[in-house]
Amino acid sequence: MLIVMKSMATQDQIDVVISQIEQNGFTAHVSKGDIHTVIGAVGGKTIDAREIELLDGVEKIVKITSSYKLASRTFHPENTVIKLKNCEIGGKEISMIAGPCSIESEEQMDATAAALAQYGIKILRGGAFKPRTSPYSFQGLGEEGLKIARRVADKYNMCLTSEVMEISQIPLMLDYVDIMQVGARNMQNFNLLRELGHINKPILLKRGLCSTIEEWLMSAEYIMSGGNMDVILCERGIRTFETATRNTLDISAIPVIKKLSHLPIIADPSHASGLRDKVAPLSRACIAAGADGLIIEVHNNPEKALCDGAQSLFPNQYGELSAQLKTIATAVGRIF
Ligand code: PEP
Ligand code: MN
Repeated sequence: MLIVMKSMATQDQIDVVISQIEQNGFTAHVSKGDIHTVIGAVGGKTIDAREIELLDGVEKIVKITSSYKLASRTFHPENTVIKLKNCEIGGKEISMIAGPCSIESEEQMDATAAALAQYGIKILRGGAFKPRTSPYSFQGLGEEGLKIARRVADKYNMCLTSEVMEISQIPLMLDYVDIMQVGARNMQNFNLLRELGHINKPILLKRGLCSTIEEWLMSAEYIMSGGNMDVILCERGIRTFETATRNTLDISAIPVIKKLSHLPIIADPSHASGLRDKVAPLSRACIAAGADGLIIEVHNNPEKALCDGAQSLFPNQYGELSAQLKTIATAVGRIF
């Protein structure tokens, strides 16, 4: 952290700043310029920078290191590659996750997965516990749904990801899923994140509806600080003033995350747009922008889906998209 003093700052004010940062375990490096004195605070514990900013004579604070360490590329320059039983996430190969919004029945899951298997899908999605805006909407099949999805995933040699909404569901879900999904609405459920830091399955951490990239990485840090380093970030659209789409896909988050963090980042064009006809163009853009993969809603019969049918692709649409993505992936040096 650098503390820039006002041009009129007195020696007494500079001394107060130095003593305050030293009390917090930092070493002060003072450099006096013609106009400003700048104090570098090195080492030490975390400190609320606002406490220093409020001191007399301080003009501004410049943060040098990020508050997230484990998630930061500075502390881990190599990309993290997460190994699953049948594939890797974050390596050269693009990881595609597909399946319905929610698990509805054995027939639905089987028909959807059978179609997706033809297109090379290795990770199946499907929610058993659904975070619905209305308490009257379909809330998911719970454990029965997890059993169905597991049977179907095994039948087609796929991994399974499903959303965990609360701590009490973790032991149950550990028996069924390969990747635990944390939904956008739970990105800052810090108690849940802490518990997920103690399990040994990868976590798919969706970006919160109104969260900044820094807040998102801090949430990853919560999981990682518990010992679980296998975090996959997922950009799923954020709230903006725009109403033409369900959310606004923040494509720039992809290169930003790639620079700030070593964690894999995938994108969810289905929840970002909320509309089936927008899914393919956004998917193409995300792969071109450097995403490590996509999570896409696909349903064998979207018009009858119990949840998010309007944003779910028909299986043959996924097939067409997948062929286009192969071309784009190759163009940006990835394997599809
Ligand atoms: C989902 O993936 O089904 C879901 C609810 O996503 P999000 O948490 O991004 O809204
Ligand atoms: Mn959905």
